[in-house]
Order: sequence, then structure tokens, then C-alpha cells
Amino acid sequence: MIIQPMIRNNICMNAHPGGCALNVQQQIAHVRQAGPVTAPKRVLVIGASAGYGLSSRIAAAFGAGARTIGVSFETPAKGSRTASAGWYLDQAFQKEAGAAGLQHKSIIGDAFSHQVKEETIREIRSMMEQVDFVVYSLASGVRIDPDTGEMYRSTLKPIGRDYRALSLDSRTGEVAEATVPAATEEEIAQTVKVMGGEDWELWIKALQAGGVLAPGAVTVAYSYIGPKLTFPLYRDGTIGRAKDHLEETARSLDTVLRESGGRAWVSVNKALVTRASSVIPAVPLYLALLYRIMKEKGLHEGTIEQCLRLFSEKLFTGEEPPVDSLGRIRIDDWEMRQDVQDEVERDWEKITVETLPLLGDVEGIKEDFLKIHGFGFPEIDYSADVEVSS
Ligand code: NAD
Repeated sequence: MIIQPMIRNNICMNAHPGGCALNVQQQIAHVRQAGPVTAPKRVLVIGASAGYGLSSRIAAAFGAGARTIGVSFETPAKGSRTASAGWYLDQAFQKEAGAAGLQHKSIIGDAFSHQVKEETIREIRSMMEQVDFVVYSLASGVRIDPDTGEMYRSTLKPIGRDYRALSLDSRTGEVAEATVPAATEEEIAQTVKVMGGEDWELWIKALQAGGVLAPGAVTVAYSYIGPKLTFPLYRDGTIGRAKDHLEETARSLDTVLRESGGRAWVSVNKALVTRASSVIPAVPLYLALLYRIMKEKGLHEGTIEQCLRLFSEKLFTGEEPPVDSLGRIRIDDWEMRQDVQDEVERDWEKITVETLPLLGDVEGIKEDFLKIHGFGFPEIDYSADVEVSS
């Protein structure tokens, strides 16, 4: 089958297996070039098939030689439909890890469910006895409560008042204005239920109860803050409430894990184009400005560079990681640098359909968006027939 990108409303409906494999290979090459990473050797990544979770797994496996178990929710190819990008990315990880002699296991299923937690515990026991490092990197729009069966949905809405936001179409590069209505109390509560820390805590408790969390184990979950510009929709919006909850969970888990010498952290990461961030209004536009400015200053990083820096300069240095006043690790430090944010704010005021191509790295955003789905790699011949089930 010939696979070209099919994009609707900033969501790419298909993926290219060869391009996804190249995406993984390039991340691995980057890790190898960067040299060995000090990190634990038995690692569980929840949300391992894409974005920050995939890069965390690659950094641990190829940088530190870790045995890894990765949990993700992805769909295989069916008939003429390609598999999801994360499916191909995960397959590629498995192939490369196998070739490098790195022990690995991928579990495809709903991480929110009891069954997947139980299956993961069984796999940990048989493959590595216990885990020393748990990365929690889920981004999901829905969660089914494992006890009640009730379905919760996360929304990306402002709180208290409607918000007029400029948005960027990652495919065409066009700017449009849209009003995002204020969230209801119910929508806030549902978003916290999906993207807050409840499931992370359930995972850590299940791993502890199953006897597979090693004494001294470290866990990290990923958060985001961003600039004041996106506060109404992000940090002061529904998703921000969920992140507040995730960060509170880190503090309570830390108290529990310290009893056995372990730690729980939240790492605030840099804004990047991922499947999750592309659908947040205003964020792709902010990303376009940020990418240009950070690239000009030689500060731009992707998920793999972020994860390497997180592991080697913050989490596993042998010292207490540096944290902000709320106890969070800040790997968004370069994004939030005053000179970077001053320029973003200055240019934000000037954005129009006409000025955006000059002010923002629209091409960079489009390129990253395509690449996370395996498209836009000059090395790949997209007119060639490919096997979708590979
Ligand atoms: P992503 O969409 O690239 O990846 C999400 C992962 O979660 C995938 O592996 C997917 O399979 C998995 N997943 C989703 N639902 C699942 C389920 N029910 N069961 C099992 N796996 C499931 O997302 P991302 O952008 O890498 O986000 C990961 C975390 O990093 C999120 O907490 C996000 O808020 C945070 N973060 C993202 C950014 C950014 O700019 N992208 C910045 C800072 C922090």
C-alpha cells in the first residue's frame, strides 16, 4: 500500500511503518552518540510508545543498557488501515532492542485497567524480578475507572470564562481564531480523573503490593507549566488542574517511597510537538514561536534530548535533584529562560496570518508533526508500496 499522511483537525489518522522505524533509529543514534547514561537497569515505562515515554525508554535502554517493560495503548493495522504511529514506533523499538541484545517486553493494553497492571507485574517478576525506575508518561483523552467501569473524559478548556484563542493548523500552517468555552465543574473533575495522579498512585501501590517495586525505586511523572500566554487554556485550565493533582500525588508518593529509600518526582518538561500537544488550542502557535527562538539561540531540544538531560543531569547524578519551590524538577528550564520568554511575548503580539511564517518556525512544527507519524523523512520514498502490517 502507498501511505501518504491523512490529517484532520491536527490529528494524523495514519502512520508510516518505515518512517516510524527511522524515527526510533534516529533517537537511538542520538543516544549512542551522546554516550552512556547513568540510570537504573530495570525500568517500567507507562505510556512507552510515543513522545516522552518512548524517548525515556530509548534513553534508559540504549543509554544505560536497561531492561525495559513498556505499556501503551495502540492499534495494529487492520485491512487497508495502517496501525497507529505508536504501534509502529513500539515495533521498531522492539526490533532495535532485540538486535542490540537488550531485554524488553511491550504490553499493549489499557494502562488504567487492573488487568494490565496485573499482567505487567507478572512480566516484571519473570523478566527482572523488580523494577528500580518507573516512568509515568500517559496522555489520554479517556479513562475507564477500573472499579466502577465509569468512563471519564479529559477536556482542554479554560476555567471561569470563555477564551478566544489563536490556533495553528499543523498541516497547513494557517492561523485561525476560535472561542473555547469555559469548562463546567463536571468537566474539570473528569479531566483530573483522567490526567491527574490517581492512576499513577494506583500503579505504584499495585507494584508495591505485588512485591515488584525494588527498595529505593524512583518514579517520575511528566508535567507542563508553560508561559503565561497559554495559562488560560493550559495551566489555569482543566488540564492544569489535572497537573496540579499529579504534582500533589508526587509529593504524597514521595513520602511513602522514602520509607524504603525510594523517591517520587514530577519533571516539568519542555513543550514539544507530540500527538497529545498538537490538539491543544494555542499551543502549536506558541510552539512555532518557541521553536524559532530556541533554535536561533541553539537551545532547541526534542523529547530524546530532554530525557537524556533529565536522567543524566537531574535524576541520576548521585545528588538530590535540583527542584523548584514546589519540589518539581525543571527540565523546561531553557524554554522558560527569561530571554526566550521575553521574545515569545514580544512576537506573540505581532502574530497574524501574514507575519506567522516569519515569526514562527511553522515548517519545523509541521516537520515534527509529520515525523511523529513516520512522515516527512527525506530518506523514505513515500511513493513506494509498503506492507502496513509490518
Ligand atoms: P504522547 O501522546 O506522545 O504519548 C502518550 C502515550 O500514552 C502513548 O505511549 C500512548 O500509547 C499512551 N497511552 C495513552 N492512553 C493509554 C492507555 N489507556 N493505556 C496505555 N497507554 C496509553 O504524549 P506525550 O506528549 O509524550 O505526553 C506524555 C506526558 O508528558 C503527559 O503527561 C504530558 O502532559 C507530558 N508533557 C508533554 C509535553 C509536550 O509538549 N508534549 C510537555 C510536558 C509534559
